[in-house]
Amino acid sequence: NGFARLGITGTLLKATEVAGYTSPKPIQEQAIPHYLAGRDVLGIAQTGSGKTAAFALPILTKIMALGARRRPKSPHALILAPTRELAVQIEETIRLLAKGAHITTAQVLGGVSRNSQVKRLRDGVDVLIATPGRLIDLVREGDVKLDQTRWLVLDEADRMLDMGFINDVKRIARATHPDRQTTLFSATMPEEIEKLAMGLMKDPVRVSV
Ligand code: AMP
Repeated sequence: NGFARLGITGTLLKATEVAGYTSPKPIQEQAIPHYLAGRDVLGIAQTGSGKTAAFALPILTKIMALGARRRPKSPHALILAPTRELAVQIEETIRLLAKGAHITTAQVLGGVSRNSQVKRLRDGVDVLIATPGRLIDLVREGDVKLDQTRWLVLDEADRMLDMGFINDVKRIARATHPDRQTTLFSATMPEEIEKLAMGLMKDPVRVSV
């Protein structure tokens, strides 16, 4: 299994097999070793490229390595996506890959009852998948804490820009742990995304498919 060569082991390696991922896709080949090594990753990749597993597998590896220190008041990882549909897809992929790994996930999305979302977060979750609009409200009101969030993913950043979420994204990023590892994926790299990336990332590795 080519994922072993990239540094994926144990339960997660098994999960890639169960998911039917026989060999890594190019974006996964490029991103996973750098991500596991702790680098920020700036990727140009489209939906369908396999970008979700490219960030999910290393993040799950790192969360599992925390062992007993798991289940914080503030999620370990935060994935921001422009739309509910994409957020739901990301959570499905993460659940598929995290099967048997005792990883908890939650969503914070517009148009869904706030109370049930907040309640789930209070119990402590490993990975939070959110759209920026609803999340910024909950962060402002103190219902969600991100101060221990050390893995941040901005998925489809160009669409978040187009939808007017860029200031919310910046504010959310500022609420996370300063020593976080940040990943940004975008189908295109206009100047505003490049600027956003430079403001939020430290010396990112660039990957492109
Ligand atoms: P994404 O670009 O993350 O939305 O992924 C697109 C599709 O590719 C999803 O349906 C994944 O299940 C699938 N996929 C991701 N990685 C692999 C892989 N290494 N081998 C086969 N399918 C994959």
